[in-house]
Amino acid sequence: MIIGGSIAGLLSARVLSEHFEKVIILEREPIPEGPEARKSTPQGRHIHALLEAGLKTLDGMFPGMVQEMVREGADLIDMARDAAWLQSGSWKARYEGGPQSILVSRPYLEWKVRGRVTALPNVEVRQGYGVEELLTDASRTRVTGVRVKGPQGEQTLEGELVVDASGRGSRAPHWLEQLGYGRPEEEQVGIDLGYTSRFYERPAGFDDFKIMVVNGRAPESRRSGFISNVEGGRWIVSLNGYFGDHAPTDDEGFLEFARKLPAPHLYEYIRNAKPLTQPVTHKIPSSRWLHFETMARFPEGFVLLGDAVCALNPVFGQGMTVISMGAKILGESIARARTSPSGLHQGLSRSFHQELGKLIGAAWFLTTTMDLAHPEARGKRPAGLKALLWTIQNMIDLTSVDAKSCHQFYEVLHMRKGAEGLLQPGFAASLLGYSLKSLLIPRERRANLTTLPPTPGKQTRTGDKSLGAAA
Ligand SMILES: Cc1cc2nc3c(=O)[nH]c(=O)nc-3n(C[C@H](O)[C@H](O)[C@H](O)COP(=O)(O)OP(=O)(O)OC[C@H]3O[C@@H](n4cnc5c(N)ncnc54)[C@H](O)[C@@H]3O)c2cc1C
Repeated sequence: MIIGGSIAGLLSARVLSEHFEKVIILEREPIPEGPEARKSTPQGRHIHALLEAGLKTLDGMFPGMVQEMVREGADLIDMARDAAWLQSGSWKARYEGGPQSILVSRPYLEWKVRGRVTALPNVEVRQGYGVEELLTDASRTRVTGVRVKGPQGEQTLEGELVVDASGRGSRAPHWLEQLGYGRPEEEQVGIDLGYTSRFYERPAGFDDFKIMVVNGRAPESRRSGFISNVEGGRWIVSLNGYFGDHAPTDDEGFLEFARKLPAPHLYEYIRNAKPLTQPVTHKIPSSRWLHFETMARFPEGFVLLGDAVCALNPVFGQGMTVISMGAKILGESIARARTSPSGLHQGLSRSFHQELGKLIGAAWFLTTTMDLAHPEARGKRPAGLKALLWTIQNMIDLTSVDAKSCHQFYEVLHMRKGAEGLLQPGFAASLLGYSLKSLLIPRERRANLTTLPPTPGKQTRTGDKSLGAAA
């Protein structure tokens, strides 16, 4: 039984379908026929990037789906070549042979995944079914099903395993408390981030980049902007700002916000482009992680995945990748439990949440550390934060002038490698040398803060002069 039919619910269904006779997804909301945004997933109207590890995991789960998306107009890109990325105030070096990603809208991706999952013979999706409560055995040590409100009124459904994939609004903490388990520890970093996004017609023949990110250096800058190719020959343009500095939803205000981003490029590209939709806003008060993995007691037969466990600041585009890798871990945990003599209900929940916690921890560390560079960010500041931020900023600046270091950075960011990838002798030596240089040479003379690097292999553009010409 899976609570929620969004990305985490669908991917859970995909892995569970290999281990259970029948998998039922209970989704509270009506599900659209096509690739449309849904009311309960308002984030779908904003840019959604997929890291390489997420792309590879999806490709493994749904063979041929990536190529199908490409045939339908999605761009499969080389992030190092096709992304124009100002990160923390310096432009990433551009080269060929970086990690891969696919550029699609969130509703389109969910629709493709849903198509594959609902085609599985043992998966059933029930729309309009909202889960109200967990059912347990008499000793309350095992979850045995759910009480659900659907078109036929209330009913109880029994199952061997219940997966809560109901997103950030999950009622699991309340359910667990009612069952006598207490609530999980909740970790938050308050950021009051707001995204405002709209679609544009992509200018014909445009190939300066396939995705652009303009992100300034904290704490001076609180704003970021994104342009991304998506299916249907469109651009999605998302503008965001921290601590209530949110882009307006009227035409003029939207453009004005873009004009005041930390670099002029994004504004220049969109100012003459043709909008296809009105801007819409979505607010993210905080990054939030519920630590189910450290609860003293936890019922068997119940696991959680997705934003129900951890909703990360989306600026780093990690959410769906962490979910897909988490779903893979869930499948492996069930496979192990199924073949162990103790069976499915002896420690599966705990061991899965612990493994998931390690995966989330790496992503959480990156986003929250960067967010804590803002003095307004509300959260626990680790010892040595200042030194850590100094090192990270030097690492980012180094990636603007050294393609080799940039590649090693991308390998960690896209989760090809764990953080130990940054400790490799070559990278560590380059970073150390660069950090020493940073003590002597001003930033503008050792990092690329101003010039958008051209697409490798393309005619060199003359600095920023031709910006906006294509648009
Ligand atoms: C503005 C923004 C931009 C983002 N950008 C990126 C990005 O670039 N890259 C990336 O990887 N991630 C990004 N994310 C994060 C990503 O969107 C989320 O991590 C992901 O969508 C969460 O999926 P989910 O399935 O866990 O939850 P949701 O998508 O929130 O889905 C939960 C589902 O559960 C259903 N439900 C809820 N309660 C019940 C109930 N009681 N019974 C039955 N059904 C229920 C809901 O109707 C819904 O369908 C972004 C997020 C935001 C807000």
